[in-house]
Amino acid sequence: MTFLELTHLPDKALREEVIRTALKMNALGINQGKSGNVSARAASGFLVTPTGMAYEDTRPEHVVAMQMDGTFAGEVLPSSEWRFHREIYAARADIHAIVHTHATFATTLACLDRGIPPFHYMVAIAGGSDIRCAPYATFGTQALSDHAVAALADRHACLLSHHGMIACGPNLDKALAVAVEVESLSRMYWQALQVGEPQLLSADEMATVIKKFATYGQQPRRGD
Ligand SMILES: [Zn+2]
Repeated sequence: MTFLELTHLPDKALREEVIRTALKMNALGINQGKSGNVSARAASGFLVTPTGMAYEDTRPEHVVAMQMDGTFAGEVLPSSEWRFHREIYAARADIHAIVHTHATFATTLACLDRGIPPFHYMVAIAGGSDIRCAPYATFGTQALSDHAVAALADRHACLLSHHGMIACGPNLDKALAVAVEVESLSRMYWQALQVGEPQLLSADEMATVIKKFATYGQQPRRGD
């Protein structure tokens, strides 16, 4: 194999990471079948999972390289929900990876048009004192993209009414971790609602938690 053949596919490692993340999303039980999609920002535009293809059958060359104007080369069609990926990357320079799932408990709350209030301090993992639920719009539409971008303001996650959730991050691992946490919080909130309305943490307490999260999990540098 020549050097040229080995390097033929641009962004091969990132394409593999997109597929790995989609497979993990299903293996972790936060998504089912072919629903959901995953993307990562690339040097030019972004890479997104293809439409209608089982993640097990998806190869790096099937991951669609889209430009920010919505165009792409090749025969493989991008996820029907590529539009909100583009709009989020266009609106948010801090976001480099997006995981969209139809996770059961997050979607249960979204079907009730309920966001997640500060019933637990980990809600702050999404960047604020709540996780909003974006109003419903048909999948793949500009209206849904607009609702998603608005619900994600100052946040890394939101629910989508009658649809699912979006989790974002500076890389694929972090976006997936946020998705796992949002599903776990959704399950806890839903369970709590079976007994009654849980007491919520105060705005002051959530502000304290958000401040602590800014440094949480970071190892001190040598000499610090
Ligand atoms: Zn969806």
